[in-house]
Amino acid sequence: MKLTTQKGMVIWMLGLSGAGKSTLSDLLETQFQTENIFSIQLDGDQLRKGLNKNLGFSMEDRAENIRRAAETAGIMAAKGIVVICSFITPLNVHREIAREILGELYFEVFIDCPLTVCQERDVKGLYKLAGNNTLKNFTGISSAFEKPENPDLVLLTESQTPQQCCDHLYAAVSSRITQLQFS
Ligand code: ADP
Repeated sequence: MKLTTQKGMVIWMLGLSGAGKSTLSDLLETQFQTENIFSIQLDGDQLRKGLNKNLGFSMEDRAENIRRAAETAGIMAAKGIVVICSFITPLNVHREIAREILGELYFEVFIDCPLTVCQERDVKGLYKLAGNNTLKNFTGISSAFEKPENPDLVLLTESQTPQQCCDHLYAAVSSRITQLQFS
């Protein structure tokens, strides 16, 4: 059975560690619950504990991490679920993998925050470890992050509050999700 009152999509949030992907994913899910929109969150930490636990942080493994995440998200979105993905997705080639798998289901959101601010936030203490070289291949420090070329939406988490960012995001996606009700 397919959910009939909503159109599935994949909201693909990408950005540096600490940029705000998880925070906004949680807020957006709460907003969706209020509006009776069925959504599921997928994120890098969660997948790397299970489905992707054989993968490391080389660029090849990061690409495979994204491929599996996008395939998983696509299966759910095809059934009408709104999938909120939070993955660093560091390179343009990684974004192309997700875009190619998901096609019109794919909605790319760049969670844009300067590296210096992410370092100050250091939510998980990982920038400290990367700075003294205890943690290798860390995005933004010892592993590349490319600015996305063509995101569908950019959210500036340095200058706006989480709620303001969530409001922008909800406004950008909600009509797309509920359009089936009116067709
Ligand atoms: P990520 O999932 O991208 O690694 P997190 O969501 O775990 O990042 O952490 C982002 C941190 O930045 C949180 O402590 C959050 O409260 C803070 N923050 C400040 N402003 C914003 C904003 N506008 N959007 C999201 N997070 C923000």
